[in-house]
Amino acid sequence: MRQEPFSPPLATVLVLGTGGTIAGVAPAAGAATGAGYTAGVLGVEQLLAAAPGVEAVARLQLRQLCNIDSKDAQPDLWLRLAEAVEDWRAQGGGGCVITHGSDTLEETAYALDCLLGPGAPVVLTAAMLPAGALSADGPRNLFDAVRVAADASAAGRGVLCVLHGRVHAARDVSKERPAQIDAFGSGERGPLGWIDAGGLRWTREPPAAAVAGEPAKSALHVDAAAHWPRVELVCSHAGADGALVRVLLHASRQGLLQPPLHALVVLGTGGGTVHRELQIALDEAAAGGVLVQVVPRHGCCQRGAYDGLNAVKVRVRLLLQGRRRI
Ligand code: ASP
Repeated sequence: MRQEPFSPPLATVLVLGTGGTIAGVAPAAGAATGAGYTAGVLGVEQLLAAAPGVEAVARLQLRQLCNIDSKDAQPDLWLRLAEAVEDWRAQGGGGCVITHGSDTLEETAYALDCLLGPGAPVVLTAAMLPAGALSADGPRNLFDAVRVAADASAAGRGVLCVLHGRVHAARDVSKERPAQIDAFGSGERGPLGWIDAGGLRWTREPPAAAVAGEPAKSALHVDAAAHWPRVELVCSHAGADGALVRVLLHASRQGLLQPPLHALVVLGTGGGTVHRELQIALDEAAAGGVLVQVVPRHGCCQRGAYDGLNAVKVRVRLLLQGRRRI
């Protein structure tokens, strides 16, 4: 009797749709180039239909969580996604893929990295060209993301982002080249690995998930009745005089800002220097109980609890830490 070759059972992967350019559609006039498109139109089922062969990689379950342009994302999306992943894990499901807009992908990925404990892989993906454009990158990115989510070697590496054949850590990734198809990078640390015709290859270990002073994931697990604090970004530059900080402080004290000011992330010049006039205003804010965290204007923090995080990820962290019941 002829023996059939053994093929291992396919992993089950949940694909969560949230919108973005990957689900975008261009009007007839811009269909070829992807010009003038609207993000967040197609459903996750349609995205997978454009990635033939994906059903041979994993058994798929689909869920549309929302369909938005991620430039308009709200932090509540992070909680909804974390909840959806945890529900899926509790049912014994395998990896998860999240289709997302590229503009705030790094914020959502890092928030999930903070919120989720270790488990089956969680992989975000996006596209720079809308569905239907010539050489649209969405189908390939989605296909690769499912391959990574279905691969047992991707578990325990934190939340991952798969774009343009590279696998990035949520902590490191950012949209470095917004005008290019190869938009995402992981700064000087580089990607965690590659996914191509040869398969998935890891080139380095993920960044340390817990650094000194960082609360455990369970401590960040925020409850539904809590409120997001206000964390604003301000920038140091030639002529920075602190007026904006003082306006924020005044409005906050007068009850004109709801919620009141909780923290300021300051985009510093160079490695994190601050104009002396702005520094005076920041000292006033700190004396009034506002948390002040300086981050380099370009790149990431180089040490301490925020090591490796860029400004928007430091803001995500402060939002999660400061979330409380009012
Ligand atoms: N504005 C779009 C979004 O972030 C851009 C994209 O997905 O590439 O949803």
